[in-house]
Amino acid sequence: MDQDLLFALARIAWLIGAVAFVLGLIRMNSPATARNGNLVSAGGMAIAIVATAIYLLLRPAPAEGSSGITGWIIIVVGIAVGGGLGLYTARTVKMTAMPQLVSLFNAVGGGAAALIAIDDYLGIAGTPGLVANVAIVLDIIIGSITFTGSLIASGKLMGLKITPSRPVRVPGGQITTAALALVMVAAAIFLWIGNYSVPAMFLILAAALIFGVTMTLPIGGADMPVVISLLNSFTGTAVAMAGFVLDNPVLIIAGALVGASGAILTKLMADAMNRSVMNIMVGGFGGGEGTVAAAGPEGGSVRSIGMDDAAIQLAYASSVIIVPGYGLAVAQAQHAVRELAELLEERGVTVNYAIHPVAGRMPGHMNVLLAEANVPYPQLREMEDINPEFDRADVALVVGANDVTNPAARRAGTPVSGMPILDVDHAKSIIVIKRSMGRGYAGIDNELYVNPKTGMLFADAKQGLADLVAAVKAL
Ligand code: NDP
Repeated sequence: MDQDLLFALARIAWLIGAVAFVLGLIRMNSPATARNGNLVSAGGMAIAIVATAIYLLLRPAPAEGSSGITGWIIIVVGIAVGGGLGLYTARTVKMTAMPQLVSLFNAVGGGAAALIAIDDYLGIAGTPGLVANVAIVLDIIIGSITFTGSLIASGKLMGLKITPSRPVRVPGGQITTAALALVMVAAAIFLWIGNYSVPAMFLILAAALIFGVTMTLPIGGADMPVVISLLNSFTGTAVAMAGFVLDNPVLIIAGALVGASGAILTKLMADAMNRSVMNIMVGGFGGGEGTVAAAGPEGGSVRSIGMDDAAIQLAYASSVIIVPGYGLAVAQAQHAVRELAELLEERGVTVNYAIHPVAGRMPGHMNVLLAEANVPYPQLREMEDINPEFDRADVALVVGANDVTNPAARRAGTPVSGMPILDVDHAKSIIVIKRSMGRGYAGIDNELYVNPKTGMLFADAKQGLADLVAAVKAL
């Protein structure tokens, strides 16, 4: 086939793929169409991959390079192993471990983009043109920071011993991080002004890899959602840079979409936590001692209530607001909570769900979980929308949520200070289902639990809700 025609056809297929990415993103705006949006985007990616493979197969073989038979074996084995592992982990991962997995995928994306740039740099004899040079260096920097930063973020979410979720001070603190940044900038400028130097390239690589670690380690658990989202945006940017390096438009478009949507999400998450992105990142740089435990609730005592007491309060209420949190996700109690809500509605109770933007362990965690259990979308109410309604609610039923309800956030000097919370304590009565007085992700006591209006119903979320359903039915 004529080579120009072949390239034009490949470009058209890539364009179709890129349009599918955008359409898919638009459909992800609403939980009702999100599943379909995912399929549309995946379809676009399939078109792009198949078109690229056909293009590589049919174009005349280059004099040298990796598209010989060995190259094809590497590509096919790589797709089989990588695709197989991806499919297996995505199918078997527990919903609650999804953020760790997303973070690992971010690491893989950033690392792959950096490797492409390194390979490209080593394959060039002499200085590359300015555009390629800038793209290669930025790709190595952003990809490597994303690689180690995402590994640390994932480790923090897994609660690994070497990466505790609390802020960890790195040796030298802020000065180390600033020095690494300086090394990267100086070496990058050295290359950009026309020098070809493999040692300088490896210096940038080493500084960026360490920077990823020193940037993420000092950031505390409560700020992790923003960090994951930011690193996701970095992955997209690194992939877009790899697109420039390889002169592949579909990589540039896909990377730019991930980079831009990740950046928007980062801003939204930071706004939801009432912090600036800079404050979270720089606050973390060399931090570690800035975060203190909230002064424990003083003088209050915890009131434990029984199943029948809770059932009576719920069944005879006129308005109930359910506050789901991480514990609901761990216990896989989404179906049980919907069953209880339906039962209450049959009795004439108005039921709504209060969704905090950082409840659970990933952006949108509660929406995904409750949508899976077919909770009607109109009942899922965003924080700003539902907060004024707590004053009128007879009962706020907190299921496995902790930090997102902690009134300590309204005071200065605690790890959750400044984070907007659900105004659960404004409800006339509060029932909290959790297993113990255990702390949440931020590792501090919750003043809500000693509020005289609060009754603690100590139980696993799924079992507790099932028992509540039985108790309400028995009334
Ligand atoms: P928290 O992590 O604050 O608290 C969860 C509570 O659930 C715990 O106190 C635990 O108490 C309880 N729990 C655990 N297992 C069960 C179970 N089987 N049944 C009943 N209860 C259970 O959750 P929130 O959702 O309130 O807050 C989310 C936190 O996670 C925030 O600090 C947020 O910043 C952070 N985060 C959020 C991310 C996101 O993107 N959404 C990402 C990373 C972190 P007990 O052990 O007593 O049962």
